[in-house]
Amino acid sequence: MSKSDVETVVIGGGAAGIAAAKRLRQAPIDCLLLEARSRLGGRAWTVTDGAGYALDLGCGWLHSADRNPWADVAKRQGAVIDKTPPPWTRPALALGFTPEEQGDFRQTMGLFFARVEEAAQRENDMAASALLDPGGRWNGLVNAMSTYIAGVELDRLSVKDFDRYEDSGVNWRVVEGFGTLISSYGADLETELDCEVRCIDHCGKRLRIETSKGPIAADRAIVTVPSNIIAAERMQFAPALPAKIEAARGLPLGLDDKLFMSLENAGEFASDVRLFGHTDRAATAGYHIRPFGRPMIEAYFGGKLASDLEAQGEAAFFDFAVTELTGVFGSEFAARVKPIRVHRWGRDPFALGSYSCALPGFADCRSVLAAPVDDRLFFAGEACSRHDFSTAHGGFNTGFAAAEQIIAAHAR
Ligand SMILES: Cc1cc2nc3c(=O)[nH]c(=O)nc-3n(C[C@H](O)[C@H](O)[C@H](O)COP(=O)(O)OP(=O)(O)OC[C@H]3O[C@@H](n4cnc5c(N)ncnc54)[C@H](O)[C@@H]3O)c2cc1C
Repeated sequence: MSKSDVETVVIGGGAAGIAAAKRLRQAPIDCLLLEARSRLGGRAWTVTDGAGYALDLGCGWLHSADRNPWADVAKRQGAVIDKTPPPWTRPALALGFTPEEQGDFRQTMGLFFARVEEAAQRENDMAASALLDPGGRWNGLVNAMSTYIAGVELDRLSVKDFDRYEDSGVNWRVVEGFGTLISSYGADLETELDCEVRCIDHCGKRLRIETSKGPIAADRAIVTVPSNIIAAERMQFAPALPAKIEAARGLPLGLDDKLFMSLENAGEFASDVRLFGHTDRAATAGYHIRPFGRPMIEAYFGGKLASDLEAQGEAAFFDFAVTELTGVFGSEFAARVKPIRVHRWGRDPFALGSYSCALPGFADCRSVLAAPVDDRLFFAGEACSRHDFSTAHGGFNTGFAAAEQIIAAHAR
């Protein structure tokens, strides 16, 4: 351990923790970043395939890019920003999903979102599934969209929370990878990797942070671990903080996993187009064909489907994808795709899921989770964001805000 006594510790080296530690260092406030993994980035993770392409297993899109602090970081780093409009804003492949059907589905989604907006104004929260058109033709696909957006089916999604999400509609990507962008932003921070925090003892005058590498004394801490880690008490507080555990349990991480596959004779397809395996059910993957024009397919699995496949093992994702793709393109298509990489975020011990959603009735848990304790325990991470939850910029903004709270407390 590089240090056993520090003014401030930041727990978790993902988007939130890195943004917090950078702001503290700039203040300047003595700060040590503690990260359980052997890398920075958390749910932002870029790996390189055999052909040298940067693949984002976690976040890939800079959503609300025109107000996304990571876009500024990208510009400062000289990263290559790709502004191609995302596949979900353009027509999908027409095979098995005619332009008329796509228009009908888009209209159905629009009406559904309007009902969400209206229902969110009511006093009582409800599950978004209550707003489906009974017997509606596109209910399966609307539910599938919920699994991609929130990681859960609509019956587990709070209407109030869903409605609070803000999106400017501008979406960019970074060619070098979003994960690379975030981890390299934190590369110059004082960091202890492979350092799992097991307990924060806040009984005494100073905090005692129990870690896998020994104890650290600190005056203040910013906790940025995912909500599921707090909910499962994989990181504990002494004395316990039941309000935090309850809030975290109201904000579980939904599940979304990506599978990258190589694609032979990719030139047959236009770049950056989307295809659904099925249009009549929730348990279907979304296939992003030729992302960045590359000869590959990025498949996206959400909700119960992702959970079932995770239980069967990594190979199950590819098997499922091949079954769906050959169903659309014919059996010869199987010979054109090969698996490159998948990551099971639900089985990742330091994430336990993909991104947070509020269960029906639990939308206000975000502010409970974010509230400081005794002016020395501060909380950040995407789940703490009221309007940008589930995103890397939500992580950044909450981390930066927690650092500002510490800077203000420091000045008192
Ligand atoms: C498949 C997938 C696709 C996504 N797509 C997008 C997208 O396109 N755009 C977007 O903006 N967002 C996307 N996201 C979400 C985005 O990745 C996250 O919201 C964001 O990275 C969360 O940042 P964070 O700092 O809040 O949490 P994390 O990145 O999870 O950081 C928390 C850190 O805490 C560490 N940690 C956990 N337990 C301990 C412990 N006990 N001690 C010490 N450290 C610990 C973890 O290892 C981790 O590094 C996606 C996520 C996934 C999984």
